Amino acid sequence: MPADRLNAELATELEELAAAGLNRRRRVLESRCGRIATVDGREMLNFAANDYLGLAGNPAIAQAMADAALAWGAGSGASHLVSGHLVPHETIEQGLAAFTGFPRALSFSTGYLANLAVTPTLAGRGDAVFADKLNHASLIDAMQLAKANGATVQRYPHNDAAALERLLAASDARRKVIVTDAVFSMDGDLAPLPALFELAERHDAWLVVDDAHGFGVLGPQGRGSLAHFHLPASPRVLLMGTLGKAAGVGGAFVAGSATAIDYLLNKGRSYIFTTAAPPAVAGALACSLQLIADGDALRRRLFERIARLRDGLAGLRWPLLPSPTAIQPLIVGDNAAAVALSQALWERGLWVPAIRPPTVPKGTARLRISVSAAHEAADIDRLFDALKELA
Ligand SMILES: *Cc1c(COP(=O)(O)O)cnc(C)c1O
Repeated sequence: MPADRLNAELATELEELAAAGLNRRRRVLESRCGRIATVDGREMLNFAANDYLGLAGNPAIAQAMADAALAWGAGSGASHLVSGHLVPHETIEQGLAAFTGFPRALSFSTGYLANLAVTPTLAGRGDAVFADKLNHASLIDAMQLAKANGATVQRYPHNDAAALERLLAASDARRKVIVTDAVFSMDGDLAPLPALFELAERHDAWLVVDDAHGFGVLGPQGRGSLAHFHLPASPRVLLMGTLGKAAGVGGAFVAGSATAIDYLLNKGRSYIFTTAAPPAVAGALACSLQLIADGDALRRRLFERIARLRDGLAGLRWPLLPSPTAIQPLIVGDNAAAVALSQALWERGLWVPAIRPPTVPKGTARLRISVSAAHEAADIDRLFDALKELA
């Protein structure tokens, strides 16, 4: 029975994954995203979501989404370029451009698709991509597509601007593209964006910045990592932001010069060949964007919780990485030990995911603690009390 054999092969690989402790499964939430996640009838304190401002379950945003669904229907019906670009899509693009200070923005269904559009569209034959070693998986896939298009790809050691400079200086590529996370998703640290921007100017390169974890959180009004560093909305910069994390909804955008955005709109395959997101998503985002812009109190609360966690965990057996953001990784080292610690917290009603290789480098398995403005001070205390007990 050949079809059975096909599946037997896959099953063998899955068993190998399980034997290495690397198989994955999902948990079903019986509640909306928030500080409490109900799982199997149990109320878990949620330190796993990227809902940094606590907006994912916000009733006003949900209402805006419902209103937009009633006004505009459930589906957009086609890709943006065919007939799927509705007024709510246009409005949110203009709102995101104004908010980030760039002339134009283009909306995408997910950040993954946004990243797949940018690098391979900018870089093809004769061009060179320079990427940080710890970039997000979606940027790595984008880099592989650029390579398939004929670009050369070089990865520089994490946040090492001097190493990047040597690579740029040695390159005779027609077009150079520097690609980096702004906030690294598994470490929580910031890219040295001012140094990278200066290198981009000096070597006449594009700078592509993935601000998935900075948008809504960093900078005045949550305008993101570029604003945090007081960097200009330069025409050599493309800023990607995701809208399913701090913004609490879903989707993503790329902001840049009018020309660069028009170029992406004409050539970005993951923009062109996919159905536009439901207009209700754009409607919800308009509300979310307003809450982000007016969200100084939420951000103050978030940074207070981050400081409380870092104070509480200082001197613990497991070190916290020096992260100034909502992503607080506690380095355990060993894969099995990280999973056991995550499991022990789970049994105490605390949901903190363990992250293992290949998502992070070997020997650096960790707990990835996501802090949110939705957390109460007592929630943070419960987490560090439990960790102290387990240490
Ligand atoms: C989450 C994430 C993405 C992907 O965004 P989605 O909207 O979830 O597809 C891209 N880059 C980084 C750094 C991320 O953390």
